[in-house]
Amino acid sequence: MKIICVGRNYPEHAKELNNEIPTEPVLFFKPETAILDNGKSFFIPSFSNDIHYEAELVYRISKSGKNISKIEAHNFFDAITIGIDFTARDIQTRLKQKGLPWERAKAFDGSAVIGNFIELNSKDEYNFSLSKNNGVVQKSNSKEMIFDILAVIENVSKFVTLEKGDLIFTGTPAGVGKINVGDIYEGFIEDKKLLNCKIE
Ligand code: ZN
Repeated sequence: MKIICVGRNYPEHAKELNNEIPTEPVLFFKPETAILDNGKSFFIPSFSNDIHYEAELVYRISKSGKNISKIEAHNFFDAITIGIDFTARDIQTRLKQKGLPWERAKAFDGSAVIGNFIELNSKDEYNFSLSKNNGVVQKSNSKEMIFDILAVIENVSKFVTLEKGDLIFTGTPAGVGKINVGDIYEGFIEDKKLLNCKIE
C-alpha cells in the first residue's frame, strides 16, 4: 500500500507558511513504514529539532483504479478518519529553499498517525479538529479544502494506479505547531474521538 499526501490544500495554512495557493494539488508520498497506529506513542527523532503536527482528514481507498473521473471517484473510497502528518519543519524549510524533494521531512518512521476509521456519511462534509493537551489547536471542515477528495482522486489516478488499502491524506488547515515531549494529541471528526497519540 501507499500513502498519498496533499500539501497546501487549505488557503489559511498555505498563507501561514508563506506558500502560494496551488492551481493543481501539491503531492508527496509516504511509505508504509511511516504508519503509526492509533494509541501508539510517537518518539521524537534525533534528526529534527522542529517536528510539527498537521491534522488531516484521511480517506481509505476501497478498490483499484486508474484514470478515475471526478464523477466516479466516490466509488473508490469507503471510510474516513483523522490522521497526523508529522513534519520535520526545519528539514522541510531547508529542502524547499534548495528545491529538493521533501521525503526526509515527511516520510520518516511514525510520521503518519492513523485514527480509527468510520463509515462515510451521506452528506460527505466533515468537521474535524485536533486538540493538544485538551486545548483545540486545529479545526476545520472538509468543504474548506481547495481540492476535495474527488478532485484529488481524479488528479492522482491519472499517473498513479490507486489500490485497495491506499490512504489519502488531504492536507492540513491552519494552526500547525511544534510538538514537545509529554504532549497528548487527540483527533476528532464531529464529536467522535478517533485518534490519540502521546509524544515521547
Ligand atoms: Zn500535511
